[in-house]
Amino acid sequence: MERAEVAEARKRIHVLIVGAGCFGLSTAYHLLVDNESSTDLGAQGTAPWYKVTIIDASDVLPAPDAASTDLNKIVRTSYSDGWYTRFAKEAIAKWKEGTICGKDTYHESGVLVLGLRYQSTEGPDQGLTTPYADAALRNDREINARIEEFPMPGMARRALPQGVIGGHLFDEGAAYLNRDGGWASASKAMEAMLGNVKRLGGEILTGCKLSGISPQADGTSTVNLENGEVIHADMVVLTTGAWTPLVVGGIPHLENVLKDRLVATGQVVATLRPSPFYQQQLREAPVLLDWQSGFYMFPPNEEGVIKIAIHAEGHTFAPGSSQDDSSGSNPSNLVDRISRPRTVRTHGEDDGTRVPRHILQRIHAKLEGAYPELGKVALETTRLCWYTESPDENWFIDQVPGHPTLFIATGGSGHAFKFLPVIGRLVKERIEGRLRPEDAVKFSLGREFGARFRSRLGEPVALDEGTLWGPKEFNIARVTEQSV
Ligand SMILES: Cc1cc2nc3c(=O)[nH]c(=O)nc-3n(C[C@H](O)[C@H](O)[C@H](O)COP(=O)(O)OP(=O)(O)OC[C@H]3O[C@@H](n4cnc5c(N)ncnc54)[C@H](O)[C@@H]3O)c2cc1C
Repeated sequence: MERAEVAEARKRIHVLIVGAGCFGLSTAYHLLVDNESSTDLGAQGTAPWYKVTIIDASDVLPAPDAASTDLNKIVRTSYSDGWYTRFAKEAIAKWKEGTICGKDTYHESGVLVLGLRYQSTEGPDQGLTTPYADAALRNDREINARIEEFPMPGMARRALPQGVIGGHLFDEGAAYLNRDGGWASASKAMEAMLGNVKRLGGEILTGCKLSGISPQADGTSTVNLENGEVIHADMVVLTTGAWTPLVVGGIPHLENVLKDRLVATGQVVATLRPSPFYQQQLREAPVLLDWQSGFYMFPPNEEGVIKIAIHAEGHTFAPGSSQDDSSGSNPSNLVDRISRPRTVRTHGEDDGTRVPRHILQRIHAKLEGAYPELGKVALETTRLCWYTESPDENWFIDQVPGHPTLFIATGGSGHAFKFLPVIGRLVKERIEGRLRPEDAVKFSLGREFGARFRSRLGEPVALDEGTLWGPKEFNIARVTEQSV
């Protein structure tokens, strides 16, 4: 049977995906790729044929301020929860194949995990309290990852390329190098995904901002856009990342289900471009990931740019949080109290990329601790990148209660990008009711949250716009400091 005939014979389902980030594009890919995978009705007779439309609020894709749009992201199996370790292993196999997220977008530099406890001759375990890193090592051992352990402080320098002088960051605990990991060129991978989704027949509409979803009596949904247009779909998947807490106000039921369970927090990222000499020296360096402080950094990318960042407490941004409406009587004030991304789209190229200076200084101090010579290099860019945080750092992949055809896939919690090649498969399985029961519970909207799990120290704090710096302010302050 020809492909066109199969399409005719199968039940056609029009799926509208809202948000073209990592969750949205991966979902689109997995829905579409199975349309293609068989022309044999015998094998796939009951499988539906998906027509996929993706809309995104941004005029250009990948959206400049989406969490998924970035220079690079860490790809690691080193998780304290073995479920993610195993799923990341699957993802890495796909990154290496290069068929889903593009060729040459994955770089297996290895990930040097710092901040583990160590055994001292003076007594029991010494140093740092980093149960996350210790558990990650156990999980990496369990999947037989290619790891090299550095049980004593200082030994981790052996993982650095010859001639590179590592600073005191390498003296602060035990460490291990996981060679089965590295980093992905994030924006390039997103572009490859966009290309694949189009090639598979997906329709992608930019400049379409969702304002509300109304369920219809026949089980379909009407999706309203801010520009007044309306789209009808059999099924809707909401993948709006850190904007989700804002978006759900227009969707019956979902607002209550997600109340206090999804928070947008801004995380500081900066870049620098060292001299060609240091670019060359560090080209083969592993990604550094220090679980004690949350600091991480990448080797130079193809353009010689190094990204530095911190997985830290994060900042919330709610324009109305200082307004006094303690009675909660004014609904517009309540909306203004929802944390949402403060980015180039809301605050322009200059102000929209500024970051809290104390976090920038904290990251920079760690950079100097890792590679003292890089501490002398001026910063080139800064940015707040927005996590969508759930209370237990697990994602939400579920059907919205009361809407049989409305699904949500979000709550990346700062670690979903590495799963770009595979995460959409989970969403497809949830849509089709085929997700393993234990996974369905893990990612359900209604799951119980015990003690709040956080892979980092501290709770998010409200962003103080009076403390924001861009690279210019930071570099001037550094020069002034050094000349005093
Ligand atoms: C600083 C930082 C570092 C990170 N580092 C890593 C890492 O090293 N490794 C890793 O695996 N993960 C990492 N992550 C996490 C990862 O980037 C995210 O989990 C993932 O990208 C989230 O994807 P998403 O699809 O949920 O959101 P996004 O990529 O933000 O996409 C959401 C999309 O929805 C669109 N949208 C929003 N509102 C609307 C609307 N009303 N109508 C239509 N469209 C809308 C937006 O324009 C956007 O394109 C990091 C995240 C950050 C912020």
